[in-house]
Amino acid sequence: MLAVAKEFLPRIRRDEPMSRHTSWHVGGPAEIYFTPRDRTDLAAFLRSVPAEMPVYWVGLGSNLLVRDGGIAGVVVSTQGTFDRLDRSAQDMVYVEAGVACARIARQCIKWGLGPAEFFAGIPGTLGGALAMNAGAFGGETWRHVVEVETIDRGGGEHRRPASEYRVSYRHVEPPAGQEWFLAARLRFEVRPPEHRSEVTDLLERRKATQPIGEWSCGSVFTNPPGDHAARLIEVTGLKGLAVGDASVSQKHANFIINHGAATAADVESLIVRVQNEVERAHGVRLHPEVRIVGQPAKRGR
Ligand SMILES: Cc1cc2nc3c(=O)[nH]c(=O)nc-3n(C[C@H](O)[C@H](O)[C@H](O)COP(=O)(O)OP(=O)(O)OC[C@H]3O[C@@H](n4cnc5c(N)ncnc54)[C@H](O)[C@@H]3O)c2cc1C
Repeated sequence: MLAVAKEFLPRIRRDEPMSRHTSWHVGGPAEIYFTPRDRTDLAAFLRSVPAEMPVYWVGLGSNLLVRDGGIAGVVVSTQGTFDRLDRSAQDMVYVEAGVACARIARQCIKWGLGPAEFFAGIPGTLGGALAMNAGAFGGETWRHVVEVETIDRGGGEHRRPASEYRVSYRHVEPPAGQEWFLAARLRFEVRPPEHRSEVTDLLERRKATQPIGEWSCGSVFTNPPGDHAARLIEVTGLKGLAVGDASVSQKHANFIINHGAATAADVESLIVRVQNEVERAHGVRLHPEVRIVGQPAKRGR
């Protein structure tokens, strides 16, 4: 067990259920769950964590399947911290990693900057959006990134231009070893005010086609080249397929819903069943977009 220095204790929770921090509402405990006060606190904490102890980061847990046995080591949460959002130049915003994407959309629209509307329907933080290259309705996070600020395992901070990252659809390859995002400078176009109504339209389109309000992680699988995961799952006849209290959404086949009592093992088994059935029927192996982390539950739990 990690002996934590006294100064960090008020911001530490031990055996914190990750089901409280994921939009699927499943997942076992994080051994140590740390919410830093600020960068100095975070850097000092990272320096105090033994090198052999794994460190994982979470934003709003909206793209995360944490297994039922939980996460060994440290989980750093940016939720409720790193929340600065400023206009740093006429066409540029400075956003810290814990800022919710919906807030970026709202604020950019107020400032007459765009296109940032796509951020409105992404229920995560900027940190998660940077890690995932989150996108929607033709918009994508990294199209706007000018530079990022990161922190490494030893608490050292770095400024890196976007060109140092290899970015593709829902995939971001960092240039160096283990670093996490603290903030980014994002560039947008200065736009006339008539763009303001687009957010309502986009959110309504989402509501009409996605099971918003139910416990999910959004799209489970990335779209294979030239096709849609949802289409393949639907034509394979898998809408409604269930394992335990998890099922493939009737409204959008690329969503898996926890109806209230599902375990992470139910969700993961369903993911594998969908992959196998789609591959058998169409010869296409779907790849999860969601990040699957942690240990399975020990037997008998
Ligand atoms: C209803 C619903 C709709 C969704 N719609 C979309 C959509 O349209 N488009 C889309 O792209 N996604 C969508 N998602 C998925 C999800 O919201 C995005 O992937 C989002 O960017 C995840 O952000 P998060 O803060 O929740 O990250 P988390 O789920 O907490 O983490 C995701 C990954 O990012 C890493 N991470 C988090 N913060 C940091 C950081 N500061 N530095 C480094 N790594 C970090 C984590 O370690 C993890 O690997 C949807 C999800 C739901 C529930």
